[in-house]
Amino acid sequence: MLVSSGLHGVEGFFGSAVQVAVLEGELLKAPLPARSAIVLVHALNPYGFASLRRFDANNVDLNRNFLLAGERFEGCPPDYRSLNNLLNPKQQPRRFDLFPVRALLVILSRGLSRVKQTVAGGQYEFPQGLFFGGKAPSHTSEILRERLPTWVGGAREVLHVDFHTGLGRWADYKLLVVDSMEERRETIVEIFGPDRLDPRHTAEPSERKWYTAYLTHGDLVTWCQEEVFAGRDYIGVVGEFGTLGPIAVLTRLRAENQAHHWTDAENASRKRAKERLKLAFAPDSTTWRSSTVAGGVAIVGQMIEFLRRT
Ligand SMILES: [Zn+2]
Repeated sequence: MLVSSGLHGVEGFFGSAVQVAVLEGELLKAPLPARSAIVLVHALNPYGFASLRRFDANNVDLNRNFLLAGERFEGCPPDYRSLNNLLNPKQQPRRFDLFPVRALLVILSRGLSRVKQTVAGGQYEFPQGLFFGGKAPSHTSEILRERLPTWVGGAREVLHVDFHTGLGRWADYKLLVVDSMEERRETIVEIFGPDRLDPRHTAEPSERKWYTAYLTHGDLVTWCQEEVFAGRDYIGVVGEFGTLGPIAVLTRLRAENQAHHWTDAENASRKRAKERLKLAFAPDSTTWRSSTVAGGVAIVGQMIEFLRRT
């Protein structure tokens, strides 16, 4: 079992909280199923974690950086270029910013799922922009490529959950199944039950805004499946825990990115933007924190139970 977190820097507060809760809680008091082990990897993006941002030291969104052999670090979604000035203003943050209103207008005219795909699908052309996938494999991916096989050892079966926050309903969670993992959906349902799987193919239109509904390029799970654990029986899911709504999250990501690039380190608005970003991904609410950490621990418990049964 592989439990990873913090790929998106600031989301690491939540991921580490779950991992600590697993270590300190009841789950590991009983012996693990025979011939199994659990590997916890936290702070996959230590720079982003330490500096309260989603991206790494090169402004790379690491979950867009794990390209497969033969894929190139280039291109961007067709509409991203036209939204670049809106998403990534090249100036200090302004006191009054109408971005949420302008974002809403763009969504109304183009449709939410198309805008999500455009904005968050991953782009490789604007190095200071949001959701930039990089120009080369990141330091994190190089370390993982080298070390993951050793950490997992000779395991023939690898069950992986990668924890994230900021997508979905407040304090709720879903397990996202990437396209390349669809063929394993039956086993994934067996492990986690049907109710927690991201219903992006079946959800009612009114529900869809809470789910991914966009395809990301260069994600960690697909890369683990195709590159690092090819030849092993690998199942990976993304645990997504909801915080604020999509426009609020995007507004804070944009504000932090703008402040990060266009103000100096001591600037008060920069500190404020980073603090607001942290709270968008680890809300300052005891009920949010306790229920989501319990949800994360439950996911790990379901993985352990599955191994015990099989
Ligand atoms: Zn994330």
